[in-house]
Amino acid sequence: MNTKYIFVTGGVVSSLGKGIISASIGKLLQARGYKVTIQKFDPYINIDPGTLNPYEHGECYVTVDGMETDLDLGHYERFTGIHTTRNNSITTGRIYKTVIDRERHGDYLGKTIQVVPHITDEIKRRMLREEEKGENLDFVITEVGGTIGDIESAPFMEAIRQLRWQLGRDAVCVHLTYVPYLKAAEELKTKPTQHSVKELQGMGIQPDILVLRTERHLDDAVRMKVASFCNVDLECVVQSEDMPSIYQVPVSMQRQGLDAAIMRKIGIPVGETPSMKSWHDFLDKQSNATREVHIGLVGKYDLQDAYKSIRESLNLAGIYNEVKVKLHFINSEDITSDNVAEKLQGMAGAVICPGFGLRGIEGKITAIQYTRTNDIPTFGICLGMQMMVIEFARNVLGFADAHSTEMNPDTQHPVIDLMEEQKNITGMGGTMRLGAYDCALQEGSKARCIYGKPLIQERHRHRYEFNNQYLEEFEDNGMHCVGRNPDNNLVEVVELSDKKWFIGTQFHPEYASTVLHPHPLFMDFIKAVK
Ligand code: GLN
Repeated sequence: MNTKYIFVTGGVVSSLGKGIISASIGKLLQARGYKVTIQKFDPYINIDPGTLNPYEHGECYVTVDGMETDLDLGHYERFTGIHTTRNNSITTGRIYKTVIDRERHGDYLGKTIQVVPHITDEIKRRMLREEEKGENLDFVITEVGGTIGDIESAPFMEAIRQLRWQLGRDAVCVHLTYVPYLKAAEELKTKPTQHSVKELQGMGIQPDILVLRTERHLDDAVRMKVASFCNVDLECVVQSEDMPSIYQVPVSMQRQGLDAAIMRKIGIPVGETPSMKSWHDFLDKQSNATREVHIGLVGKYDLQDAYKSIRESLNLAGIYNEVKVKLHFINSEDITSDNVAEKLQGMAGAVICPGFGLRGIEGKITAIQYTRTNDIPTFGICLGMQMMVIEFARNVLGFADAHSTEMNPDTQHPVIDLMEEQKNITGMGGTMRLGAYDCALQEGSKARCIYGKPLIQERHRHRYEFNNQYLEEFEDNGMHCVGRNPDNNLVEVVELSDKKWFIGTQFHPEYASTVLHPHPLFMDFIKAVK
């Protein structure tokens, strides 16, 4: 079968959950035995979201091959278990950069470079994954960020229009819209959907399938009205009602025949509905996990999406441990030694979050001192691990001014320091130590026991590192550096073995946790706190 292409666009408002719908479609097609990938095209000009503040765009997700990407790639991976790569996350900036570099190289000599056809051709090339022809994919799902009608997404829409024409039945357009409920009128309103589809049609794209986001159940009359006004088959109008959990969405989509509708549009026999047994088993576990466990998330971004993968990893690990994880964001900027006990009261464990820069740092260190001395299970991730090291240096080794040179370049005790390979780097985008690297775990360590194997690969996103000059002092005093990169000896995991659970990782295990394979570190952490 030649590769089929599914385009997912959104209308009316943003934040409708296009990423979840794209991930769900991926999951449903995978359950039918197809090889699938999901990619995201974002209309902004940044080359990638690596330089964006989390307040702008939520968490920055990192692929195995070291691309800093949109957080939707996290949904794709958690739902489907596939590994996305740098070519699954494309922005307008990247498209323009490729075209402009080519122009400077002389590849278009004599020609005027224009949005159509040069930019749209480059978008099409990437949508078709021309560089990855060997992948042998059955389906490529392409989600386009933003809302239909945005000026900046117009070239993407034009590329989809052209591809639709070129690919014929091998392409399907799924459009996600919103059906609001007006309380005063006690009515669900379809007009915004009609307008959104009209806008799409005005760009020459007729959607094949409409997914209507709604807070209230839509009856058949509403669906019929939308179908007839928008030239879409009734069976191709599905609804995406608010669900208690995003992981119920694939099942709801399957029940309404979304995957079957896609197959019919493409002209593949629909066949039997896959049972998705392991997914249902997971959902059963989720509904049975009712006993609450409270975990403090110590960080500086008071925004759900800023620590998305960490939140999901903890929730998933909770479900497999038969508990409902209740996360409490604790702003590290507000933590002082006077209020730390109060702030962490009732928390069975604490996660010290990743991050950059000075803001909120002392609060993190104070929180760690409290959890360490009170033996509250603590999980430090990236910057969180670095702060565990600093706290230990200050309060156990007695280096009062110990710090990371990121925050204090003049410290007498730079226990966290810029990596050697980073010293000559001045550029900002994509220049950190990024992506998956090997890590060897020490025999007899807790981490080795948790992973159950001596060599692991985890993803990184950092510039600073444990300073190996201090290794002996840490080891002698009980902070063990039990995970090391086998090639350059960088410290990747530290632990205090005399505590219930006190582990810091320089890498980000949260990127590798999926619905069907929760990450062992998160699993063990929840086991310790439940
Ligand atoms: N700011 C730290 C560094 O660059 C940690 C980064 C992170 O937490 N992702 O090393």
